[in-house]
Order: sequence, then C-alpha cells, then structure tokens
Amino acid sequence: MSDVSGDRQTATPAGSLAAYTTLRLGGPAGILTVATDHDKAVETVRKAASDGRPVLILAGGSNVVIGDDGFPGEVLLLRTRGSRVVASDAGSVVLRVAAGELWDDLVEHAVTQGWSGIECLSGIPGSAGATPIQNVGAYGQEVAHTIVAVHAYDREGDTIRAMSPAECEFAYRSSVFKHSDRYLVLEVDFRLAVSPGSAPIRYAELARSLGAEPGDRVPLQQARDTVLKLRAGKGMVLDPDDRDTWSVGSFFTNPVVSTEVWQGLSLDAPHWPGEDGSVKIPAAWLIEHAGFGRGYPGAGVSISTKHTLALTNRGEGSTTALLDLARTIRDGVRARFGVELHPEPVLVGCEF
Ligand SMILES: Cc1cc2nc3c(=O)[nH]c(=O)nc-3n(C[C@H](O)[C@H](O)[C@H](O)COP(=O)(O)OP(=O)(O)OC[C@H]3O[C@@H](n4cnc5c(N)ncnc54)[C@H](O)[C@@H]3O)c2cc1C
Repeated sequence: MSDVSGDRQTATPAGSLAAYTTLRLGGPAGILTVATDHDKAVETVRKAASDGRPVLILAGGSNVVIGDDGFPGEVLLLRTRGSRVVASDAGSVVLRVAAGELWDDLVEHAVTQGWSGIECLSGIPGSAGATPIQNVGAYGQEVAHTIVAVHAYDREGDTIRAMSPAECEFAYRSSVFKHSDRYLVLEVDFRLAVSPGSAPIRYAELARSLGAEPGDRVPLQQARDTVLKLRAGKGMVLDPDDRDTWSVGSFFTNPVVSTEVWQGLSLDAPHWPGEDGSVKIPAAWLIEHAGFGRGYPGAGVSISTKHTLALTNRGEGSTTALLDLARTIRDGVRARFGVELHPEPVLVGCEF
C-alpha cells in the first residue's frame, strides 16, 4: 500500500507544503506534525487550541489550495491506517476505516472482497477520512450513499463522538465539515452490500462504456476497471509524470440555480434538473463556451489538456498564478452567461 502523499516529497522545494499537495503548490508550515495514531492526532489539535495556535489538517492534499506564503500555524499530517469489519449480516458489512487510509486502496479492497457501493469512486486520490468533508462523488455514486457514521473529535465539546449521516449534513460536494475547523475526522463507517455486482449504474457515460443500461448492475471489478479507464483519459488519476494530474481534480463545482434563473438564462446547455426544483449546469460547458478551452494557459499553470474543469500546475506555477487563472475563468463565465462559478477545493492562506 502506498502513502497518501505519494512521491511528491522528492519533487518539490524542501520544507514547503507543496510536497504534500497534488498541485505541488503551497509555501512553508509553521510547524509540521505527523500523526500515525488517533491519540497523537487528537492531542495535537487539543494542545494547539490551548496554545492558541491555528491547525490545518492535511491528509492527501488533493483538495486544498495553499497560498505561496504557506500556513503559519501547525499542519497536522494525518497518517493513520487500517480498516476492519465492525458489523455484518447476510447482506452487508460495516467497514470502519481510519481517516488516513488511502481511499483508492480501500475501494480496491472492497471490490476484491465482493463488497459493493463504492466501486464507482475508484481512482479518487486522497484519504478515506476526507471523503465525508465534501461528500466525495463521481460517476453516479457519492459517499453519502454508504456512510453510516463519522467518528470525529469535536473541538467545541472536547470529545470524540459518532455522528449520524443526518448530523453530517451531506449535500452536493458539501457537508457540515467543509469550511469548518470544528471537527477532526478519525474514522468513518461505510455500510457496503455483500454482492458480486455493482450498485445500479446511474451515470450515462459510464453505462455507455460498460455497454449497459442505466440501472443495470455489472461485476464489481468491471465497474472499477471501466471507471479507472475513463478517469485516466481525463487526467483524473494521479500520475507523477503527467502534469495534467497536478491538480485538485475539478476546480469548480457545477453551478446550481433555481428553475426561474435557469429559464431566464435561455441557454442551450446540458443540465440536470434536481428534485427540489433546482437546475445543475455543467461548469465545464460554461467554461468552454465562454472561450476557455483545454490547455488555456496562465503563468506556469493551465487548464488541463484533458479536462476543462481541472486547473493544473505545469511545474513552474504558483498559487498566485493558479488563482489568477481561476479568476479569469470565473469572470469570463460571469460576463458571458451571468452565472457564478465557485471553487470546489478548500483555500488555505489565499483568496479567490
Ligand atoms: C486528480 C484528482 C481527481 C479528483 N477527483 C475527484 C472526484 O472525482 N470527486 C471528488 O469528490 N473529489 C475529487 N478530487 C478531490 C479530492 O481527491 C477529494 O476531495 C479527496 O477526498 C480529498 O482527500 P485528501 O485526503 O487529499 O484531503 P486534503 O486535501 O488533505 O484535505 C481536504 C480538506 O479536508 C480537510 N480534512 C482532510 N482530512 C480531514 C480529517 N480527517 N478531518 C477533518 N478534516 C479533514 C482538510 O483540512 C481540507 O480542508 C480529485 C482530486 C484530484 C487531484
């Protein structure tokens, strides 16, 4: 099993947080502390609070944009590992996973064991403990479908508690944990079906690639392999040699607007109506039609040559340049369509 920060430490300036982010960007940390067990992680957060020191929890660094001046407080690198079955019945298992466990190792393990429910989330970088933070999702699955509890240290109550899915307030790329430093996620419980077949395929592009219909089930390994292939073609699987993957994945979320706003826009764009009357518009379509194609350049950064939504560091970029490019795109989309784009990653020591 590989470490959650991969081999980035050999490719970035010494002492910089760039070594711990998939963008390979970010200045130095005030203090860098590694926790390989829960007690150390909780104690680090507790002590920093009593000393009045801000703490940044960092796991795989695949969903953060850290400023060029870094983070002056304490950076807690979460490197806890392990998973175990804590409950089972004829049809399902509940798997308790340490926050620092590499997410894709977990998906591979589940597929191998014949446990279904997260196979379409194959290839997503980062840690298991970060998946509840933005309710990680792809290809028709999101972790809110399988999480039954999040065990977190609550800084406000100075206590560890098991939070129910309702308390997690999962929504599209969001939860109670995102943009909050109240909780340190220690372990996550996933309920997975015992089944050789995938959960019903919901995503049209994936169904097409599988030669299946939406709603069909396919063998778990076939679902995983097909998702990995689709993702690789878009630069969405980490590859140190491919700078199209030096990103945070999608930089922008898909804008969600009301039906009235959608009708007023009169756009000939693909869109997904929600159950609550909202309409989700693909950010990639807006960006492309506002004139920002794949490979669109900034200073040492660019839109990925494989995917319009990924902003990438070409090796000589900076966070300042990346955010300049992001603002240019946001302003262009706003001017062309009157729709506001919002960043998906968490911004640390920098502003959008
Ligand atoms: C190539 C690529 C493809 C991607 N594809 C997808 C995708 O398809 N779908 C998707 O949803 N995301 C995707 N992402 C984004 C990212 O991989 C996920 O959001 C992932 O869950 C982040 O995990 P991490 O361990 O790297 O988190 P980090 O980047 O280390 O942290 C992200 C945020 O979570 C907080 N955090 C992390 N761990 C904890 C914890 N244990 N307790 C409390 N707070 C914590 C951090 O403080 C930070 O605010 C992609 C990223 C890349 C680079």
